[in-house]
Order: sequence, then structure tokens, then C-alpha cells
Amino acid sequence: MDEAISREDVAESDLMTRRGKFRAVAFRDGHEHMALVYGTARPRENVLVRVHSECMTGDIFGAMRCECGDQLDAALDRIVSEGSGVFVYLRGHEGRGIGLLAKVRTHVLQDEQGLDTLDSATTLGFPIDTRDYTPAARILKHLRVRSVRLMSNNPDKIRALEANGIAVVERVPLLVPATDHNVGYLTAKRDRLGHHLPQVDTFSGDYSFAGDNRT
Ligand SMILES: [Zn+2]
Repeated sequence: MDEAISREDVAESDLMTRRGKFRAVAFRDGHEHMALVYGTARPRENVLVRVHSECMTGDIFGAMRCECGDQLDAALDRIVSEGSGVFVYLRGHEGRGIGLLAKVRTHVLQDEQGLDTLDSATTLGFPIDTRDYTPAARILKHLRVRSVRLMSNNPDKIRALEANGIAVVERVPLLVPATDHNVGYLTAKRDRLGHHLPQVDTFSGDYSFAGDNRT
């Protein structure tokens, strides 16, 4: 897996965003991915990094059944506030790798039968997680990043990066508040996938939930 990404599979430009100017580096590695690099310093060690799995419903449309969109925002905000960092956006990771149609089909089972994010996938014959993080490691190596402070709650992601030659010197929690909309999803990730989600432990209801008549 250690082959580098060839020149013809990389393109980069400046990208002005509402958070400021990033270097946008597009990669073709199976799917087309994007790294947003912030800051002029470009450290190689202890780099603040988010490796983010594509989630169209959460990232683009602000869906509240998962916390992906909020994590995307929080990670970019943190990179900008620290002054440097890398945000890697991985395509082909919809629904932990099962694809967009399959993910939407799992939503039907979740809504109609109360299945969680894992059981709804396996009931439809899909695996729980097929995401490949080797492109993220190759992208980070291309950017000459050797060690990272990874914004993640997912121990599998840390293991995958380390197995592919990227040292994770620190795990930086990326905790989105639990709400009535996402608590089922977060609970399944905590209890069945081993994600570090302490905010779920203390959640006792989202009193700002529209239409909620609890006081
Ligand atoms: Zn999501």
C-alpha cells in the first residue's frame, strides 16, 4: 500500500472559504478525495488532523440523525483557531462504506422498526464498516505529515492510520452534543463500536427539541 500518489492524480489550488484561505489538494485514489490544508507553517509533526468520512446527508444537508455535519464544522473551526492543520475528506465512505442508497435504506429500517445503525445495515445484508483509510494515510504522506493529533472518537480510525505509517500522538475528542435526534445513533456507536462519546453518558433529554412539551 505504500506506493505514493502519482503526480497525475493530484491537483491543488488556493481556496478562499468563509473561514479563510485554505490550500485545496484534490487526490484521485480509488475515489476522488480532498485535503484542505490551513496555515503557512506546514508542520510535519503533531499536525492537527481530521480524517472525515463523507456523509452527504449530514455534511451538506445538515441532517441531525448523525453528527457528521457538526463534526465537520467543529474540526474546521478548530484547525483555523489553532492556525494550522489538515482536513482530509474521504469519498466512498457513505454509510461506513455501504454507499448512499444503502444508507438511505437503513434509515427506513431505523425509522419504521427502531433498528440501530448497525442492525439496520446487517438486516439488509450489508457489512457494518467497510471504510478504507489507506487513502488518508497516502494523502497525509503526500503532504509530508508524519505524526498527527487526530480529531476523532473512533479507535478503529487511529489503528488504521497507525497501521499505514502515520503516527497518532494524541487523540483530540470531537464531541457533538447529544440531542433527541442523534442520541440513538451516538449510543450505538458508543456501545457497539467502542467510540469515545462521554456526552452520551450524561444525556437525559434534549429540552430544546422543537415540539417537546417537557419542562
Ligand atoms: Zn453522517
